[in-house]
Amino acid sequence: MEHNAAGLYLPKTAKVQSVIEENSQIKTFALSLSMGAQPTVFRFQPGQFVMVSMPHCGEAPISIASSNSRTDSFDLSVRLAGRLTSAMHSLQPGDSVGIRGPFGRPFPLDKLVGTDLLFIAGGIGLAPLRSVILSCLADPRFSDNRITLLYGSRSPADIAFCTDLAAWEKSGRVDCHLTVDHGTPDWKGSVGLVTSLLDTVAPNPTRTKALVCGPGLMIRAVLAELTCLGFDPNDIITTLERHMKCGVGVCRHCHLDDKLVCRDGPVFTLAELQGHEVMELAT
Ligand SMILES: Cc1cc2nc3c(=O)[nH]c(=O)nc-3n(C[C@H](O)[C@H](O)[C@H](O)COP(=O)(O)OP(=O)(O)OC[C@H]3O[C@@H](n4cnc5c(N)ncnc54)[C@H](O)[C@@H]3O)c2cc1C
Repeated sequence: MEHNAAGLYLPKTAKVQSVIEENSQIKTFALSLSMGAQPTVFRFQPGQFVMVSMPHCGEAPISIASSNSRTDSFDLSVRLAGRLTSAMHSLQPGDSVGIRGPFGRPFPLDKLVGTDLLFIAGGIGLAPLRSVILSCLADPRFSDNRITLLYGSRSPADIAFCTDLAAWEKSGRVDCHLTVDHGTPDWKGSVGLVTSLLDTVAPNPTRTKALVCGPGLMIRAVLAELTCLGFDPNDIITTLERHMKCGVGVCRHCHLDDKLVCRDGPVFTLAELQGHEVMELAT
């Protein structure tokens, strides 16, 4: 997508192709930009986001959740939060939204080749990591990587991306471990914080890169635990959420001391965040 001055601020129209209800709070939308009858190619890197808008509902950043090998459409997984996301949850196939982007610094995929990959996600935080996982699975450079996912949800009913989780397990390529904060009588899996799963998988910190995304409290606990396990701060990669306006590093609404989350992030290594109070920074 071109990034001339007008293109930065002018939304393009994207059409909803399909809607998947992940749970009562999260829906995944497949969208495509179109010029006439032809779908427009949309290229991005995992970890990047788009600014989504709807008339009278404002605009908000949403991470791209699909594989970067798919260029005719892309997925956005959206959790009910406020005005825009509520309006998005009533979208049907054929409806339209405004899209600016893709924006932001992505995950450093080239640096992940040949390492063990440990994904740690909570709730909707799996959305940007889903993009990395699907992109790695589609990329032959990652065919020998050992991939592990630790995914935490509030309750069994809150587990999202069930179709992906089942497909990844079935493929044998992704070792998935789930936990919930609060179990139910029929839940036979793990109960507890996602950090408790680290004992089960015992990652080797010398050959593993950890990618972490979720609520601020979860990120803070996971970063502390990975540090205790001996991970190098350069090998712990996370994403930060800040309220954004322009999305392109002009308005400074999302500033974090000298950094702008929209332009310098949202992806940061722990090494880059040291000295900042992560719990206050992540929402
Ligand atoms: C890089 C990035 C990627 C994201 N990716 C996703 C994603 O993939 N999926 C997803 O569902 N969400 C994602 N988000 C979060 C999403 O952008 C927010 O939840 C957004 O606020 C939703 O817009 P809304 O209009 O529905 O809700 P809003 O009206 O913005 O309200 C949401 C909540 O934020 C509070 N709030 C509103 N404005 C402010 C403000 N200026 N300062 C502090 N609090 C405020 C409200 O009180 C409310 O509790 C992402 C955010 C960032 C920064």
